[in-house]
Amino acid sequence: MAKRDKSYALRRLYLAKNESSSYTEVSNISKGEEAMKDSHGRVIDYLRISLTDKCNFRCIYCMPADGVQPMGHDELLRIEEIETIARVATRIGIRSVRLTGGEPLVRKGVVDLVASLHDMDGIVNVSMTTNGVLLPDMAADLKAAGLSRVNISLDTLDPEQFTYITRVGRLESTLRGIDAALEAGFNPVKINAVTVRRLNQDFLAFAKLSIDRPLHVRFIEYMPVGESTGSDGTGWDRSDVIPSEELLGIINERAVAEGLPELVSTGDDGKPIGWGPARYYEFPGAKGTVGFISPLSRHFCSQCNRLRLTADGKLRPCLFSDREIDVRSALRKGGEDAVYDCFLEALNMKPDDHHDKVGTERNMSQIGG
Ligand code: SF4
Repeated sequence: MAKRDKSYALRRLYLAKNESSSYTEVSNISKGEEAMKDSHGRVIDYLRISLTDKCNFRCIYCMPADGVQPMGHDELLRIEEIETIARVATRIGIRSVRLTGGEPLVRKGVVDLVASLHDMDGIVNVSMTTNGVLLPDMAADLKAAGLSRVNISLDTLDPEQFTYITRVGRLESTLRGIDAALEAGFNPVKINAVTVRRLNQDFLAFAKLSIDRPLHVRFIEYMPVGESTGSDGTGWDRSDVIPSEELLGIINERAVAEGLPELVSTGDDGKPIGWGPARYYEFPGAKGTVGFISPLSRHFCSQCNRLRLTADGKLRPCLFSDREIDVRSALRKGGEDAVYDCFLEALNMKPDDHHDKVGTERNMSQIGG
């Protein structure tokens, strides 16, 4: 049985065996070892790896208008260093890896990296968050290399607003990316839409994407990550946050007004595969789902299962905390055991929650979401 089928079967078996909460559900399945817990008793089995701070978009809530000073060549982790750090990560029980950016597909060697992560002992799932623009050219190779799932960032279905939000992008390029992801057979294909009140996005139009195609549209509350981004007043403001409960109400009201049924909860069995904290709903009979990620109105820190690795080699225990561990220097000076110690330190350093912290020294493009 091919590795992918074996790991998928093991995961399905593991899911069937465990009725407990589905959030941190995968650990010790390949090696029979217990995934390590952080100092708050949470199982940490998910590593988000940012491959670059570069991006072919300039989204208003992610980076300043004039972009960010790109990381220098020597600052960036080399692909083989990322592989080594990921391999060491499996020793603390990391089982799922998500590749992020900036835009991960602009990083040279990304397809080979996916293949080596996929073939890495202990890793049962390799996924990616992308803006989708390069997927038409790369989806088939990524799938063949072992990438199983993709999340595609898309915040509006209005072409003009799309160019306003991304500052440089064209809506059709991301829509073609979504088509390419479905054609390549990624499962699931999820859409990540950051909701910002002043943008007045057409949320029902988004939710309706889940009806005729197996698309899983997730609405993410606008997070105060980064310094006040950009001089054109595009910085984070609490008044722009739309709590998920309010948004669900808005969508249902508009759906009923259009003669559609209301969204109903999918329950655990109906949710798409994932390692994330989204709560899922669906239009009865729809091929896809509608999810809500509520880091502010209903945070999920008590179930946090992740660590982040930045493109310049810092291990970041929490998205909102600026405390980081220099794993790049540890690797270059002390090898794999020094990296292992960094992971132990990160598990000890993870905060119990974000305590509504506003602002971080790094922009989202320098962390990877
Ligand atoms: S805010 Fe920090 S502690 Fe909370 S879920 Fe995110 S990474 Fe985990």
